[in-house]
Amino acid sequence: MKKPSKGLATRAIHGEPEPKPAGTPVVAPIYQSTTFANPVGTAEGVLYTRYGNTPNQLAIAQRLAALEGAEGALFLGSGMGATAMAHLAVLHPGDHLLSSNWIYGGTRRLFDEEFHRLGIDVSYVTPSDPRNWRRQLKKNTRAVFVEIVTNPLMRVVDIDYLATFCRELGISLLVDSTFATPVNCRPLEHGADIIIHSATKYLNGHSDVIAGAVVGDQPVVDEVRRLMMLWGPAIDPHQAWLVERGLKTLTVRMERHNANGLAFAQWAADHPAVDEVWYPGLKQHPDHEVAAQLLDGFGGMVALSLKGGPEAVQTVLKHLELVTHAPSLGGPESLVSVPRFTSHTGLSDAELDAQGITDSLMRVSLGIEDEQDIIADFEAALAKSKP
Ligand SMILES: *Cc1c(COP(=O)(O)O)cnc(C)c1O
Repeated sequence: MKKPSKGLATRAIHGEPEPKPAGTPVVAPIYQSTTFANPVGTAEGVLYTRYGNTPNQLAIAQRLAALEGAEGALFLGSGMGATAMAHLAVLHPGDHLLSSNWIYGGTRRLFDEEFHRLGIDVSYVTPSDPRNWRRQLKKNTRAVFVEIVTNPLMRVVDIDYLATFCRELGISLLVDSTFATPVNCRPLEHGADIIIHSATKYLNGHSDVIAGAVVGDQPVVDEVRRLMMLWGPAIDPHQAWLVERGLKTLTVRMERHNANGLAFAQWAADHPAVDEVWYPGLKQHPDHEVAAQLLDGFGGMVALSLKGGPEAVQTVLKHLELVTHAPSLGGPESLVSVPRFTSHTGLSDAELDAQGITDSLMRVSLGIEDEQDIIADFEAALAKSKP
């Protein structure tokens, strides 16, 4: 952990501020160059895009490390690339990973289809009862993986408990903090070892870049870099430049996402056609207390099911005009999807049912439009779904 000297918004814009001699561009240029002139007679100082050490890549890495209060960070070509490399940095054939059961479908497939093939054993724990973690512990357990705010039911996992649990066992705690962002939670402050982001979502925040990041102590970040150099999932300079543009407005965007999330969840909770609403900022959410303790904001993601079931959901989706039916999240424009058909395809029907991911569950990514316009769009579409 590194103690930052400036506030979060300032760090998002400047990182560690540096003097700017006259003529310095206010916005850093894109160095769209794969290679750079090199000192003669040494292997030191080789800059190459796949090594993640070119100017645009370093700029965003420093910026994110500053936001998370970390020694180091590294951006990669996607959130999946970041997830894969972060785990491979701490797990070897013969090791066992304890993963939360409440995770992104792509991550689940990575563990089931690839880690198994690499000789890494993975067990899934339902975090609703913290005792479940210890129950599934094995002699060769080397790491725990959780999403702090989960997809799609916005469950909040108690990482304070898990950090103590992992420290006691001397194993690594990896936290996917995509839904929280450093604005709503900084997992290193709670004792996590490694943070993973799909920067595709809020960090870039404009629905126009695929990127990921790994954050932690320098030795871990160095190991992730070594793996990235060999396996290859680096981020392109132009993508990195776009991420820097996005990061500058992270704090104000998150404040608006948080406000719209809460307003929308409260509206949905009072609507007669809505069956259930899942938002950690609502008192009735099962993790409201943990969320209030861990999070500085409850986020812009809300899940809801309708009394009219899947038919009503489809009618609503067809009649929304402002809100787009599309997967992904974290951009300025509001999106809605049915996780059973998007982020969670690949799970069995039994598993989806067990997790409550039904075909009448919609997930809304609240954008940063005016809240009354988003709500009015849903209000009008819901009126069409009345039998
Ligand atoms: C989207 C997402 C990922 C995967 O990220 P990509 O950038 O699409 O590769 C991983 N974890 C979570 C929580 C996500 O939402």
